[in-house]
Amino acid sequence: MTSQTEKSAGLTLPLDDKKQDWLKCKIRDIPDFPKPGIIFKDLTTLFADAESFKFVLDSMAEHCRELKPDVIAGIEARGFIFAPTIAYQLGLGFVPMRKPGKLPYKVESLQYDLEYGTDRIEIHSDAVGHGHRVVLIDDLLATGGTAGAARQLLTNLGAKVVGVGFVVELAFLKGRARLGDSSDVFSLLTYG
Ligand code: AMP
Repeated sequence: MTSQTEKSAGLTLPLDDKKQDWLKCKIRDIPDFPKPGIIFKDLTTLFADAESFKFVLDSMAEHCRELKPDVIAGIEARGFIFAPTIAYQLGLGFVPMRKPGKLPYKVESLQYDLEYGTDRIEIHSDAVGHGHRVVLIDDLLATGGTAGAARQLLTNLGAKVVGVGFVVELAFLKGRARLGDSSDVFSLLTYG
């Protein structure tokens, strides 16, 4: 019997319309959260559905496997739901990229612009080795500010970012452009 992971080998992303429609039905839109005008994609309803959660994780893992990473990095907070599981499936380590002041050892830190104001992301300075192949994972690509900063931090530490992956991409916000070279950016589901 073939596993779901084997079945999704050679996966073309984004997923075909039928699979996207199936998964999009599991995602709940929350209007005006966390502030007016934002439609928040609530993935907790997808996480709670065993079949779709497994499909998403298996699909992400299979695509990551093809990129031959040495390690999987994930962005706090919802990237931590996917990245460690993918790392576990591939038999690799997981590197957390966190909000300021959370990591206990020496950190590298990068500030980036938000729509209003700035934010900062941090990584332990010894978390990735020079030349290590890293796939970076988050739940959702919006403007690309967060993932762009995370990718820059990994590059600053000498790592080679071989993929930047998301479950959901809000394509109308053109986040790929902010990620620089978008050829290694992948997402399962795209909106607009
Ligand atoms: P950005 O830096 O603009 O690409 O924003 C990406 C981060 O913000 C991700 O970690 C997402 O979890 C979160 N985010 C931004 N916009 C949304 C949205 N409309 N729905 C859910 N999460 C979002």
